[in-house]
Amino acid sequence: MAGHGAGGPRGGYARGFLTEEEKRNRPRVTKELLGRIFDYLAPYWKQLLGVLALIILSSYFSLLPSILTGRMIDEGILGRDLSMLIWLIVMSLAVTLLSNLIGVGQSYLNSWVAQHITFDMRNQMYRHLQAMSQRFFTNNNQGDIITRMTSDIDGVQRVVANTFTSILSNGITLIVAMIAMCRKNILLAVLGMVIVPLFSLPTRKAGKTRWSLTRESQECNDQINGILNETLSVSGQMLVKLFVKEDEEYSRYEKLNEKMIRLNIRESMAGRWFFAVIGTFASIGPLLLYLVGGILIIRYHADLTVGDITVMVALLGRMYGPVNSLLNIQVEWIRSMALFTRIFEYFDMPVEIKNAPDAIVPKTVSGKVEFDHVCFGYEPERQILKGVSFSLEEGKSIAIVGPSGSGKSTIISLIPRLYDVDDGEVRFGGIDVRRLDLGYLRRNVGLVTQETYLFNGTIRENLLYANPDATPGQMVEACRKANIYDFIMQQEKGFDSLVGNRGLKLSGGEKQRISIARVLLKDPALLIFDEATSALDSISEQAIQDAIDPLVRERTSILIAHRLSTIMAADEILVVKDGQIAERGRHQDLVDAGGIYTELYETQFRLPKEESQQ
Ligand code: ATP
Repeated sequence: MAGHGAGGPRGGYARGFLTEEEKRNRPRVTKELLGRIFDYLAPYWKQLLGVLALIILSSYFSLLPSILTGRMIDEGILGRDLSMLIWLIVMSLAVTLLSNLIGVGQSYLNSWVAQHITFDMRNQMYRHLQAMSQRFFTNNNQGDIITRMTSDIDGVQRVVANTFTSILSNGITLIVAMIAMCRKNILLAVLGMVIVPLFSLPTRKAGKTRWSLTRESQECNDQINGILNETLSVSGQMLVKLFVKEDEEYSRYEKLNEKMIRLNIRESMAGRWFFAVIGTFASIGPLLLYLVGGILIIRYHADLTVGDITVMVALLGRMYGPVNSLLNIQVEWIRSMALFTRIFEYFDMPVEIKNAPDAIVPKTVSGKVEFDHVCFGYEPERQILKGVSFSLEEGKSIAIVGPSGSGKSTIISLIPRLYDVDDGEVRFGGIDVRRLDLGYLRRNVGLVTQETYLFNGTIRENLLYANPDATPGQMVEACRKANIYDFIMQQEKGFDSLVGNRGLKLSGGEKQRISIARVLLKDPALLIFDEATSALDSISEQAIQDAIDPLVRERTSILIAHRLSTIMAADEILVVKDGQIAERGRHQDLVDAGGIYTELYETQFRLPKEESQQ
């Protein structure tokens, strides 16, 4: 993710330049965008006013000692007035201390506001993302979503905490310094104002050279990280080993590593040159002031004192920093606006699946399911389900079979509204799912998907996710029904055994059975089971089968089945082909009909011998 997010390239000076990508994607700054940003700041207007007041005070006080140096020289040293000199020195010290103290207060208030604004934004974003549909998560890269949640929002915090305040404090410092210089001598003040930006420009040029090297080395670094992430992960490393790619990967890594070293050396040398340039140019400014000020005093007997020139030089020194930062304003501004634009883009993505305003929560729960001429496609131009109709009565079960890709998983995903139909209606308990309360619907539909997801934690934590109030007795019962209880008891720590990252410590079959137990704890009115297509060993398969078959008989259930015994346990079989229900009926009738089911039966369903002879 090179150069993504607000972070940009390393180093403060580098933030002063836009990347090619940033130049291409300049955000459009509209009134609406500014208004939305303002909406986030508005609740904190009092604190922001406080920040502004503190910035003004601390910038002013930080310049006072420079202004006082003139009086120290003229009135104290040259005027031979020791008490005045001491008084001015004490004043300078006190003012410096005060300015620093105010600075501390300002930083606190500033970071308080920035943190609170991002706190609001982060919570709002998380809520919004949670409400996004399955379509959003399948279409968007997980990395992008996380970047938006983390780096982009951190970027906003930086913008509020640093960019805005640095523009303010630099602007104020500059204005105060200019006014103070003008009051001493207009000519020297004008000279100073011309000198500073003039000498800041070469510094920028030098910075740019170093910046492009930094970017190159950062890209190289990203590539190296990419290789490390890919090849040193569990599955990546397995792939490398199995395809014997160790040497190839090593030489890829070594090449990049070598490139990185060369870039780093060039970068550090460019750095030396860079600082040499800054040092030289920064010293030319004061020398010019001494020269012109000296000529004015010596040749023209101008109304100017040594102290005045010293003040001017001191103030000039204080102007370089602010001018440099202000030269970067445009870049900072564009970056900040791009950041906000990216975040708002996410906020603007419509929440596809939401509760109807008058959502219904039925008093009695029924697991009855009806599909009424349902049409659906993930993308508008490609229809996956083409008029699917069927109904499942309370207490009955349906097995859905069909070739891979025919739309079986799609059908069931419409029941808990992971997606909404394009046309037709899906009813649960006799009511269109879009009119039902989403919480009610999803609480009453239990779905065990092909890919079981377990959180990194203990078996108990994973089970309780479905129902935090489940009693130990209920847990044991659910696990018994899911045929996983004995396995859990064999573990050293029983229910408190860790499942590992994503359940990696468990076999596919064990994970499936735990997820069946998890869904049973939810005690749903409708149980949907998407049988894994991947082959499990026969013992695991038998264990799952023993868990499912009785469940199917006692609950309203839909099964996407690949094994004959599950199919036979169901009251009705639907054969899906190409997004349509091609055949329906009971096993023997379908076999006798000699259609697609017969074909599937002969080619796909894995039949243990005794079963086929039943
Ligand atoms: P299998 O038995 O292999 O699981 P299936 O019958 O369950 O297959 P579905 O998963 O419903 O099939 O997929 C039906 C079609 O929809 C496939 O062509 C698939 O490529 C497509 N599809 C599935 N999920 C998505 C998605 N999130 N976005 C776009 N297309 C999808």
